[in-house]
Amino acid sequence: MPELSSGLPPGTPATPRAVRVSKPAATLSAAEIAALVSEVALEIAAEVPEPKFGRRVPTTRHENPHLVHDPKDKQPRQYGMTKRAYGTALARFANAPVTESVARRHSGLDPRHPALKEGRTVHTAFVFDAKDRERVLISGINNAKLGKLVTKGPWAGSPIYHLSLEERKTCPRSCPVWDACYGNGMPAAVRFRYNANLMRSLHKELAALNERHPGGFVVRLHVLGDFPDLDYVKSWKGWSDEFRSIQVEGYTAHPRTSEIGQAIWKMNLNRPKRWQIRNSVPMDAPCEPMQVSSLWDGANSVPDGIDGIVCPQELGKTQTCGTCALCWSPAMADKRVLFLGHGGRGKK
Ligand code: SF4
Repeated sequence: MPELSSGLPPGTPATPRAVRVSKPAATLSAAEIAALVSEVALEIAAEVPEPKFGRRVPTTRHENPHLVHDPKDKQPRQYGMTKRAYGTALARFANAPVTESVARRHSGLDPRHPALKEGRTVHTAFVFDAKDRERVLISGINNAKLGKLVTKGPWAGSPIYHLSLEERKTCPRSCPVWDACYGNGMPAAVRFRYNANLMRSLHKELAALNERHPGGFVVRLHVLGDFPDLDYVKSWKGWSDEFRSIQVEGYTAHPRTSEIGQAIWKMNLNRPKRWQIRNSVPMDAPCEPMQVSSLWDGANSVPDGIDGIVCPQELGKTQTCGTCALCWSPAMADKRVLFLGHGGRGKK
């Protein structure tokens, strides 16, 4: 057996492995070589530090599917958000570095992209039929922006659920962010196909939630997608009549002057305590109550004449919509809520 120690006193720095064998290599037997190899392997293993899961920022798409890999980036960047990834606040954009290349990627699809022409998501593999999924209304606990519970305002105490439909497929082409929909950057979001199965599932799940939460529950419509047609709006009206605990909030790109937009707006007027859908409008649209717009050049780029407030969650000033509640607060009805457009995220 070859000598593996130098015989130096304890505490002496380790001898380089190459000079620690006292016999010429050519005279070693196969068993000695095997013993030597396994001993050195053990030493190497002891020298490699334990990975600190939960403390390091993931750097591969395998560890974190939200990472963007762009050859122009010096390192992978995260444009999504997870508490696990950053180990800090749930704020989506407060911590996430946004590079030029990420901004470019999210400033909009190439105008020739077929998803724009065909009016569909880019991520077609993540469009599901309701009958193939356990549920269509997902708890806000799974959504870092929404949160699971409202903690302030008139809906305090209500759990939050959300629904996503296929973006563009269910949206009006007049949407101010048709090409730059944030769904472009959500490859793994579950979107539902608008069909009879979806409507059946919604009715069933709303009935169950109504029973489980007699004090009220919130449905966020639609994290992705929009009201696809008038029948769909009427269905929500019917469910809202049938299930008195439903509280709905969200945004629509349907102009208030359109038939669908009118129907949605009437719900705002007729049941303000339980239906709060804001209109998504271009920044230069005339100011009216219950609007939202995108800010593309950072939080300090609010144009003069716009009485708005930048979403505090996106600025890292509150954890979730549940802890903010501004969008459905009656006191905020006349103020426009401003979201940091994808290129403006990270700019303050
Ligand atoms: S303003 Fe508040 S409620 Fe509205 S989206 Fe931002 S965090 Fe959510």
